[in-house]
Amino acid sequence: MFPQSCVTCVTALRRPTGISSLPDRTLFRMPPVRRGLGILGGTFDPPHIGHIAAAVEVRSALHLERVLLMVANDPWQKTGTRPLSEASDRFAMVNAAVQGIEGLEASSLEIDRGGVTYSIDTLQFLRVSAPDQQLFLIVGSDAATNLHTWHRFEELQDLATLVIVDRDGEIDAEPPSGWSAVKVSIPRLDISSSELRDRVRSGRPLEPFVGGPVINEIRSRGLYGLADS
Ligand code: ATP
Ligand code: MG
Repeated sequence: MFPQSCVTCVTALRRPTGISSLPDRTLFRMPPVRRGLGILGGTFDPPHIGHIAAAVEVRSALHLERVLLMVANDPWQKTGTRPLSEASDRFAMVNAAVQGIEGLEASSLEIDRGGVTYSIDTLQFLRVSAPDQQLFLIVGSDAATNLHTWHRFEELQDLATLVIVDRDGEIDAEPPSGWSAVKVSIPRLDISSSELRDRVRSGRPLEPFVGGPVINEIRSRGLYGLADS
């Protein structure tokens, strides 16, 4: 089902039912039908090339129809640990980051819902609103190793296939036992939003880790102490 060069099935994926015989050979010449909805949740403060690469590579490897970059309204594990940009500013940056990239969308679902953000609520909503879509919860390997700290994390396995992408400094993360999961290799990009905020603080440029449209949003909104000059 998936190109084996970049995708490792960690545990068995649910297979489409109702396929009883091989398809007509002409179908092999047709591009694969894109199905499935990927969800890459995050704080995106700011969004960077690592987020975009993860979303694009997973969409391509798993032939997903769309990947939503799901902007957390109140990322409770980060709240209070450092100043966070407003959710509306983070959404505007993500929206700018995905412009012109096929199949990627910024989602304000969690912001519109308001309150503390739990992925379980998001997946339950998507499961009900799009019952025919298979859901793929995309996480970097750092997030994968911390999955057990997520609110009601055990219920996530019934709603989505877990997709783990390697992240520098944290590789070979394994899914919780028994979960339906795949690993997708992406070019390793040793970059994080934290490092980018540090870069701004020390006067170093954000390019090329953050695209021009995102930098325009940062400047026009005066984020991270940067302003239009
Ligand atoms: P921060 O340093 O503020 O935590 P971050 O760069 O880790 O920011 P998040 O918004 O926390 O970004 O991450 C959202 C998701 O994107 C997580 O699943 C995370 O693992 C993944 N991710 C972030 N950066 C990368 C990267 N460089 N490569 C692969 N995955 C990444
Ligand atoms: Mg992070």
